[in-house]
Amino acid sequence: SAKAHGRNCMQFFNQQIQKDAERNAELHLYLKTALIQNEFQLYYQPIVNPFTAQITKAEVLLRWIHDDQFISPDEFIPIAEESGLIVQIGEWVRMQALTSIVAMQKSDFTIPLSINVSTIEFWNTDLQHRFAAYFDVLQQQFGLDVFPYSLLTLEITESLMMSQQDSINQLLTDLRHRGMQISVDDFGTGYSSLSYLVNFPVDQIKIDKSFIQRISSGSRHKSLIEAIVSMSRALDLSIVAEGVETEAELDFIKQQNIDAVQGYYFHKPMPQEAFFDLLAKQAESIARLK
Ligand code: C2E
Ligand code: MG
Ligand code: MG
Ligand code: MG
Repeated sequence: SAKAHGRNCMQFFNQQIQKDAERNAELHLYLKTALIQNEFQLYYQPIVNPFTAQITKAEVLLRWIHDDQFISPDEFIPIAEESGLIVQIGEWVRMQALTSIVAMQKSDFTIPLSINVSTIEFWNTDLQHRFAAYFDVLQQQFGLDVFPYSLLTLEITESLMMSQQDSINQLLTDLRHRGMQISVDDFGTGYSSLSYLVNFPVDQIKIDKSFIQRISSGSRHKSLIEAIVSMSRALDLSIVAEGVETEAELDFIKQQNIDAVQGYYFHKPMPQEAFFDLLAKQAESIARLK
């Protein structure tokens, strides 16, 4: 009967909710010791010029390998945020990314790195002081003499813009004065209005991959991207198109004269060693051309 069917559905949903809660609790437990157990790794996804395929920068993406399994950041980052563990994890990510910038500088293929920072971290971390502290460590360990602000981009989300805190505004303004870039990640998926972009200290937007994936679904979707592009240009913001997978998507992005693309069409995220190999090869072929 319908009633019995309804009851079965409810039972199914309850079981699913129960399962999700158990999985969350389990991940939370393992996440607490993940740093100490060395379970994190940074992957690097090149951002390229779509006309030349040259790598101009890269996004740093966190990977958690627990029990020989990759657990997706889309699953564990929210747990890290809710539990506050993101604060320590974010520290590790930034220090690790800075260490690889130093390593790139020692080779001759330095490019800027883009790092994700959760909105939660802005409330719980004094980033200005933390950068000064990382500098001390890098100075002592590697003899670094200038902090590489201009080799760092911070990827924030629309929720940070919407918080409308003067202190955040000041912090980002200060970091930009030092040469750091601020990028709005997943642009268009949050609930912010365009007016936030006008008043917020940012340099760049990243068009979310959900917009790119709809390019083939028709002209209205293309128009939406065109609107985002012309608005960004009016505000003097640079643009990264994220999630480009197909030739057709790439062609459209090139028609828009977008000069930075991140997506499987060119490169997937990769471990540091593979990434450095790629950069070394690129540096070599550029040197050969000269
Ligand atoms: P995001 O910052 O928007 O990063 C881009 C995501 O899109 C990455 O997923 C990347 O692997 C994926 N991607 C890039 N190109 C393509 C493509 O062509 N097709 C498809 N289908 N996907 C593509 P990933 O690495 O799984 O990370 C997911 C999200 O987790 C990130 O989205 C970011 O919000 C968060 N995240 C990752 N690392 C960190 C971190 O160190 N700190 C914080 N706070 N969040 C992070
Ligand atoms: Mg990002
Ligand atoms: Mg994104
Ligand atoms: Mg994201």
